[in-house]
Amino acid sequence: MLRTVNRSASPAPTPPFGGTEPPAHPGDDPWALFLDFDGTLVELAMTPDAVVVPLKLRATLSACMEAFDGAVALVSGRPIAALDALLDPLKLPAAGLHGLELRMPDETVEEAAPRNPEFAELRSRFHSLVREDARLVVEDKGASVALHFRRAPERERELREFVARAMTPHNGHQVMHGKMVLEIRPAHADKGTAIDRFLETPPFAGRTPVFAGDDITDEDGFAAVNRHGGISVKVGDGESAAACRVPDVASLHHWLAGIARTRACG
Ligand SMILES: [Mg+2]
Repeated sequence: MLRTVNRSASPAPTPPFGGTEPPAHPGDDPWALFLDFDGTLVELAMTPDAVVVPLKLRATLSACMEAFDGAVALVSGRPIAALDALLDPLKLPAAGLHGLELRMPDETVEEAAPRNPEFAELRSRFHSLVREDARLVVEDKGASVALHFRRAPERERELREFVARAMTPHNGHQVMHGKMVLEIRPAHADKGTAIDRFLETPPFAGRTPVFAGDDITDEDGFAAVNRHGGISVKVGDGESAAACRVPDVASLHHWLAGIARTRACG
């Protein structure tokens, strides 16, 4: 179910994943670059705290900022504060918590996070689960809460059923299913609404949006970018609405370094 929105001459599909390679350079087309973090810029780890930030990542992101006139934003499920801590001293425009918090280019922060008493109950249920099984990890992000079961993969079906049952009466929240993680969050914001918001704001406004992500939660972002006639890039395997594909995190780094270099020289 791949939609082709590739704007340049189409390279051959990249087996075995499908999708084309992303354009090697922006040419004269000004891009606004949106980047997921985990699984896209850094390899996934057993727990969110255990990710390793590659040495060159800060330099690559800084080069992209320069090449695209500051129109670069992280679009992540993590809180913005966690992204800052991982990339210190680099501070980029960012959407955290899948679009629930936004830090705009002028550093103002916009939040879309109404609290809900039923959500507090679900959060405490997650903490109870972790007390019973130390392999589970709760990542409490304030407006959303995630349960990681990477170290207990055999519990996936049971945990998904548990959450589906617990969520039935709770309006206004949704369950997001990621890679070995379940997340409960308010239903009114996602990575697509975050990208839409940035595209209303300089220096993002008027540019062609480009979004790279690896997970199911990135599909809202791919849909938004496709709607704007932009370039959607899926990292890794799996069905996706993204038109382009790179096989892994290392390939994405290589591509980012290349487009920043081409733009700077061109
Ligand atoms: Mg990701």
